[in-house]
Amino acid sequence: MVTTYFDCTGDNLGLAVVLPIDALHIDLVRCPSQLNDILQTSFILSKTCLSLGVVDGRNIWINDLEKSLSFIQKAVDILGEDRVMIAPSCSLLHSPCDLDNEKDETVLTAEIKQWMAFAKQKIEEVSTLKKLASIKDPKELASALNPNKGVIESRKKSSLIHKPQVKERVKNITDSDSRRANTFDIRQKKQEKALNLPLFPTTTIGSFPQTDEIRQLRAKLKNGTLSPEEYEEKVKSEIDRSVVWQEEIGIDVLVHGEFERNDMVEYFGEQLDGYVFSQNGWVQSYGSRCVKPPIIYGDIERSKPMTVKWSQYAQSKTNHYMKGMLTGPVTILQWSFVRDDQPRSETAMQIALAIRDEVTDLEKAGIKIIQIDEPAIREGLPLHKADWDKYLNWAVKAFRISASGVNDETQIHTHMCYSEFNDIISHIADMDADVITIETSRSQMELLDAFADFNYPNEIGPGVYDIHSPRVPGVQEIEHLLEKALAVIPARNLWVNPDCGLKTRKWAETELALKNMMIATKKLRQRVKETSGIEA
Ligand code: GLN
Ligand code: ZN
Repeated sequence: MVTTYFDCTGDNLGLAVVLPIDALHIDLVRCPSQLNDILQTSFILSKTCLSLGVVDGRNIWINDLEKSLSFIQKAVDILGEDRVMIAPSCSLLHSPCDLDNEKDETVLTAEIKQWMAFAKQKIEEVSTLKKLASIKDPKELASALNPNKGVIESRKKSSLIHKPQVKERVKNITDSDSRRANTFDIRQKKQEKALNLPLFPTTTIGSFPQTDEIRQLRAKLKNGTLSPEEYEEKVKSEIDRSVVWQEEIGIDVLVHGEFERNDMVEYFGEQLDGYVFSQNGWVQSYGSRCVKPPIIYGDIERSKPMTVKWSQYAQSKTNHYMKGMLTGPVTILQWSFVRDDQPRSETAMQIALAIRDEVTDLEKAGIKIIQIDEPAIREGLPLHKADWDKYLNWAVKAFRISASGVNDETQIHTHMCYSEFNDIISHIADMDADVITIETSRSQMELLDAFADFNYPNEIGPGVYDIHSPRVPGVQEIEHLLEKALAVIPARNLWVNPDCGLKTRKWAETELALKNMMIATKKLRQRVKETSGIEA
């Protein structure tokens, strides 16, 4: 049996249908059109069975049984019952185990729960479909389908899901919403004047060590042994300490440390309307790591600011710039379970508008530099290259909508990691962030070649050390990487930073590493001043 999934067999259809196999499995969730394509080939003359992936194995929504049945009936009509199998679209690895474990109605209400199916429920759906497919009497079939139809209908109409004002706002997005007022060269000059940062500005990517004590605080808040007021005070004192410490070692653009965040997507999901959370919906992420992705079930709306309070507080503690810190629309989408009743691009635009409102609120609150993280942008690429542009176009547009509501003087940063950038570099440039920080240290800055070859126009902070390891990088090592970066990036555009957030590290190693990063930067500034006369 050959099993294909997550996309059309596409160019390989001709090969797939003549393979000397007993059965071919196709994913009819991601590529419904391929059933007709296959049934028009010589496949129908063979003895090979066709396994129809009609139950979505990659998401958590209930199956539209009538729709699935129409695929099954079409296949049975042409191939005969004996050659048709019914299956989930792909492995159930990506689906949480059992919806019956979601017992707390204050977390997941009955109305929303009825629209869902986890792995166990999906297997039940497969077996239900088999039973339904054998019912010959149309009346009997109609009444057997009725309950499922009711649920599917309620999802189409529910005011919990559908909010006219959100849809309207997405419909009214104009071209100028995804464009800053001026081009980067003009913005850069204005920002240089307004921000007055030194050559090779130093910063970090956002999070500081999430120590056991901080995680305990959140656990205590959840179980009620710590009041929200006490929790807030404790987080504030963490911010205070980190601000003092960043000032002491001389970092130019500070961060508040993201101590209040459990996770960079969950934190936003918890505050956005249109999201729900499961209690036990764990899925494997990679290796032995598991995540509990938040679930987007309805139109996304931001009812109140999500981060402003913390950024404003942190900014009040220092005369340096405090970077506002947000997760971008594509990453929020990519790391959640998403709706299957509208295109991903539509959901992305809704999130983009919510983040845009947060960005403009941060600006209003006096935050001059705002980072919108998009580490997952590359992960969302479709399997077939022919589909890349379509995805990248809306993904980049979503980012730009989130970033473009601010004045020229406000500096927008983005951050990306886990990525090869070569094949999407023009789209990264198209995001038009004033500054991008990227993971490059593990490749000894080789990843930067893509940016250099492309003549990447905006400012870049190539990570100068690998945060995934507890090893503290030496000053010389960082200097060496910075020199390599400087060989391909104009001095004016080069930032200095670690290659990702520091939440998984311990304070001891973080302090040493960042101190070394500062020493290396100061040496580089001195060297450049002496050799080129550029004032650092
Ligand atoms: N701002 C986030 C952090 O510092 C970015 C994390 C990421 O890139 N995955 O943790
Ligand atoms: Zn990162």
